[in-house]
Amino acid sequence: MTTMTKSQILPQEANRVTADMTPPEIVRWAVDTFASGLIMTSSFGAESMCLIHMAHTAMPGIPIAFINTGYLFPQTLLFMETMRRQYNLNVLEFHTQHDPIVWLSVNGETDPRTRRDVEACCRANKNSVFDRAMQSLSPVAWLRGVRADQSEHRSQMQVVEANRRTGALAISPLLRWTSRDIHQYMRLHALPYHPLWHEGYTSIGCNPETCTRPLADGQDGRQGRWSGLDKKECGIHLDQGAGI
Ligand code: SF4
Repeated sequence: MTTMTKSQILPQEANRVTADMTPPEIVRWAVDTFASGLIMTSSFGAESMCLIHMAHTAMPGIPIAFINTGYLFPQTLLFMETMRRQYNLNVLEFHTQHDPIVWLSVNGETDPRTRRDVEACCRANKNSVFDRAMQSLSPVAWLRGVRADQSEHRSQMQVVEANRRTGALAISPLLRWTSRDIHQYMRLHALPYHPLWHEGYTSIGCNPETCTRPLADGQDGRQGRWSGLDKKECGIHLDQGAGI
């Protein structure tokens, strides 16, 4: 099989080819097209096992980059480790190069349960780790789990995009799916949700209450993330990062 390089694949052409494909078909196309140049990213969040299952089925051992900010829920770390063992996943965990607890006090974040400056925290503890992970892995393309119905920004995305920040193609197989579609796939394949999903957390990031809360009445999707703030993205799905 001939593996394509990014320069050989134009996003417009890739989007035309994948326009009528289902998410598992898009993943299969990505595996066939990019082979060992393909990785995926995962937060091991609420519904993460949906895309992980598709990718791991099409390409057992696909590298899964997992960004550990140092502020994740203990349940996330346990969930990741449990899934890694149960499905024999090739999880590559990336950390900050500083001590994340010391970072808080040095940067005036005196209460670890909240964040005063979310942009600075995401920049130092998430985006810098993501950028280092992508430089280290240097993929031609990567699979990510974003969906159009999650935010205004995500509704403007294409399934395949050239990502200037990483130099790789960002592929979003689930972009056109809803949480109902995800649920049906997860039920069909008996896939587990993150344990906090059962407690009303539909989008799970870091554990400060500024950053992740269970949904309140009338909320849905990602409204538990940075609730009450303008912030909608941690930045790893923005071409320029957060607060950069
Ligand atoms: S989501 Fe919150 S705790 Fe995590 S890196 Fe961003 S601001 Fe910091």
